Amino acid sequence: MQQGEFKELARKRILVTGGAGFIGSHLCRRLLDRGAEVLCVDNFFTGSRDHVQEMQDHPRFELLRHDITFPLYVEVDEIYNLACPASPIHYQFDPVQTTKTCVHGSINMLGLAKRVKARILQASTSEVYGDPETHPQTEDYWGRVNPIGPRSCYDEGKRCAETLFTDYHRQHGVPIRIARIFNTFGPRMHPNDGRVVSNFILQALQDKPITIYGDGSQTRSFCYVDDMVDGLTALMHAPDDAHLPVNLGNPEERTILNLAEIIIEFVNSRSTIDFRPLPQDDPRRRRPDISQAREKLGWEPRVSMEDGLRKTVEYFEGLLRSRREEGAEV
Ligand code: NAD
Ligand code: UDP
Ligand code: UDP
Repeated sequence: MQQGEFKELARKRILVTGGAGFIGSHLCRRLLDRGAEVLCVDNFFTGSRDHVQEMQDHPRFELLRHDITFPLYVEVDEIYNLACPASPIHYQFDPVQTTKTCVHGSINMLGLAKRVKARILQASTSEVYGDPETHPQTEDYWGRVNPIGPRSCYDEGKRCAETLFTDYHRQHGVPIRIARIFNTFGPRMHPNDGRVVSNFILQALQDKPITIYGDGSQTRSFCYVDDMVDGLTALMHAPDDAHLPVNLGNPEERTILNLAEIIIEFVNSRSTIDFRPLPQDDPRRRRPDISQAREKLGWEPRVSMEDGLRKTVEYFEGLLRSRREEGAEV
C-alpha cells in the first residue's frame, strides 16, 4: 500500500448531525479545513442546502438527508450531535418532534457511537439552567426549568439528552462530551427564526421598529460562531476524562435594550424601539461561567462583539440584496 493511500484511510470520518444548520455548517467547514472526511446529516427542518452549497463539490464532504429520530447505520470515528431546532419559534412549532429529536435522536446517535466506538459530542444548551437563580451559571447548578411550559420540549429534551449521554458513558463506556452552548450569533443564522440578534439586525437594516420583548432589562451573553466552533472542537479533543458538561459561551453580558442600541448605532439605522410583551418563561439573566472551558480546554472567546456584528451584518445585507433581486419577502 502506498503511503498516500494509507493516509487516506487514516483520515478521520466525522459525522455532524444538524450540519446544514447555522452552527453545524460552520463546524463542517472547519472540520474539512482540518483534513477530515465530513458526513453531514440533516432533515432540513431549519437548516438549508444553501448553507453547505460551497462544500458540495469537496471530495471529502457528503450530505445525507436523514431524520435522526430514525436509526442511522454508518461507519464514523467521531460524532457531533447538533441536530435540533434551536430557536423558540422553531422548537415550539412541533414540540413533540423537538422532544423526539432530543431523546430518540440522542438514543440513536449514542447507539451508533457505541457500535462503532466513536467519541460523541452533544450540543446541549444554557436552557438546561432554565430561568436560573444563580448568576453567572456554573456547570454544577442543576437549573430551574418548568417541565410543562412552552419551552419545556427543548429544555427538558436537552436535559434528558444529557442524562442519556451520561448513562451511555457510565453503563456502556461510550466516550462522551457535553457542550452547554450559550447564545451564539453569526452569518447563516436563520432570518426568520425570531432570535434576537437576527431580528434586530434585519429590523435595523430596513429601518423597521426594533421589537424588544418586555422592558429590555433581561440579559444574554452572545458568542460569535467562529469562537463557538473552536470551543466545540477543543472539547471534542479534550482528554479522556472530560465527560462532564462544559459551558461554552461569551461571558460578556448585555441587556437586550443595550443590544438594540448597539445594533442601531452599528448599522446607522433610523429604527425606533417597539416594546412588546415578554414571552412566557423568558429567562431573566444569562451569563456563562467559563472557568471550566478555560482550565480544561484552554479556550475562551476571542472575537469582539464589534467584529462579530460586522460579519453578521454583512451576511444579512447580502441576504436582503439577493431576496430583493428575487422579489421575495425577507
Ligand atoms: P439550527 O436550527 O440552525 O440547526 C439545527 C439543524 O438541525 C438544522 O439544520 C435542522 O434542519 C437540523 N435538524 C433538526 N431536527 C433534526 C432531526 N430530527 N434530524 C436531522 N436534522 C435535524 O440551530 P443552531 O443554532 O445551528 O443550533 C445547533 C445546535 O446547537 C442545536 O442542537 C441547538 O440546540 C444547540 N444550541 C444552539 C444555540 C444557539 O445560540 N445557536 C444555543 C444553545 C444550543
Ligand atoms: N442505532 C443506530 N445505529 C447504529 C446502532 C444503533 O441508529 O449503528 C440505534 C438503534 O436503532 C437503537 C439505538 O440506536 O434503537 C440504541 O442502540 P443500543 O445498542 O444502545 O440499544 P438497543 O439496540 O439495544 O436498543
Ligand atoms: N427578544 C427580543 N426581541 C426579539 C427577539 C428576542 O426582545 O425580537 C428577547 C427574548 O425575549 C429574550 C432575548 O431577546 O429575552 C433572547 O432571545 P432569543 O430567542 O434570541 O434567545 P433565548 O431566549 O433562547 O436565549
